[in-house]
Amino acid sequence: MLFSWLRNRRRRRVLAQPFPAEWVRLLERRVRHYRYVPAAQKRWVEQIVQVLVAEKEWAGAGGFVVTPDMAVTIAGQAAIMASGFDEPYFFDRLDTLVIHPGTVRFTPEQSAANPLLPEPAALDGVAWHRGPVVLSWARVRQELTGQSPGHNVVLHEFAHHLDGLYGDMDGIPPLPDAQRERRWYAVTEAEFLRLVGNARRDEATLLDHYGAKNRAEFFAVSTECFFELPHELRERHRELYDTLADFYHQNPAEWLPRGTAEEVTAAATRSATSHGQQRRHRNEGVRLRAVQMLPTADALFGLGLEHLRLGNAEEAIRVFTRLIAEDPHDEEALSQRAIAYFQLGDYAAARADCDAALAIDPTDVDALCIRGDIWLQQGNPERAMVDLNAAVAAASRDAEARMSRARAWMALGRPKKAVADLSDAIRCDPYLADAYHDRGEANRALGRLKAAEQDFMRAKLLEPDVNWKA
Ligand SMILES: [Zn+2]
Repeated sequence: MLFSWLRNRRRRRVLAQPFPAEWVRLLERRVRHYRYVPAAQKRWVEQIVQVLVAEKEWAGAGGFVVTPDMAVTIAGQAAIMASGFDEPYFFDRLDTLVIHPGTVRFTPEQSAANPLLPEPAALDGVAWHRGPVVLSWARVRQELTGQSPGHNVVLHEFAHHLDGLYGDMDGIPPLPDAQRERRWYAVTEAEFLRLVGNARRDEATLLDHYGAKNRAEFFAVSTECFFELPHELRERHRELYDTLADFYHQNPAEWLPRGTAEEVTAAATRSATSHGQQRRHRNEGVRLRAVQMLPTADALFGLGLEHLRLGNAEEAIRVFTRLIAEDPHDEEALSQRAIAYFQLGDYAAARADCDAALAIDPTDVDALCIRGDIWLQQGNPERAMVDLNAAVAAASRDAEARMSRARAWMALGRPKKAVADLSDAIRCDPYLADAYHDRGEANRALGRLKAAEQDFMRAKLLEPDVNWKA
């Protein structure tokens, strides 16, 4: 790393100062890791804090005054993460930290000028690629109370900063050699896909579901977990822990005391909270009950969909039948009831509902797909193809339509066409386990065994509990 001579001289002056006793007391009070970090590493922590506080620009948003206590508190957490290397790392490519008093909000002018600004209006933090780290002081304070175990917005945003040091923020931070990069990719890709599957099924996880958003968030979220819940991460995700320990050059599970059981349970059950994103937290029973209490047609429709999703086809049929009784022209209810009948294997009833729905709306994609699937079940892939071509034409971005048509291509002995449709389906929705599985079968039919193997592996990672017939 190239330091300018001037900065070096200034830095030596800063580092020559004794570490202020009041900073020691502050860090002991506010930064849990500081008390326990090994002595040699603690020296680096203090040096990094001194340099960050002295050298970085600490800007308050909208006239907010950033006090030295605030700067030390934030720098202390970032310093822990950078204190494991052979020499202290001072985040030399970071010039500015912007601190907002409450949530981080952007003005309409800022949003208009920056199309890359993240969607939600209020955030807890942002790390600009090659730019400032932005933090909500309210969030930093709240996390220091220990009420949100496993979460640390400072570590999260600084992880993004490290991720983007050389190249894109893509979840692959700078690594010393190609072998380490390969290992990083293999371990984190498998863990990422597993988390995506968990998040889709709303399963409680140690890692925050927010990490399933993309590889960059996965790295930030696993960094939070690595430092905040190192014991649990090591026990449940050994390879991920080891990979992060290798990157950060430290082993917090060796020195940080284990959190209380309640803290960890809270972290594992409150699995989908983070950083101003939508907080999806669903309990099936509660959700069903909530929907049942709303007697409107929309709520009933939602209830029917929920039953379908949970595999309660009979229940779904009861709900959709009520809707159809009230409005016989409700083609959406007709096509959803067709899906439920299809799940039960009652093809005649499913077929009748499809015909009724398509008489009302000839482009109803669900009805076209189900009717195509029925033709397939009855050994008539040519007739199926007519409906499925119409479904793909009506909704070219619909993954299910592509998957149905791929099944028809397979039945017609055209695996190459099936691979094309399934690849399109995966482009529409990259986390569809079924699409990978089906493409695996099509690739195998084409003799592409390696590609088939990869597809089967992805399906298994996304849905480990399904008994895939491969
Ligand atoms: Zn993030």
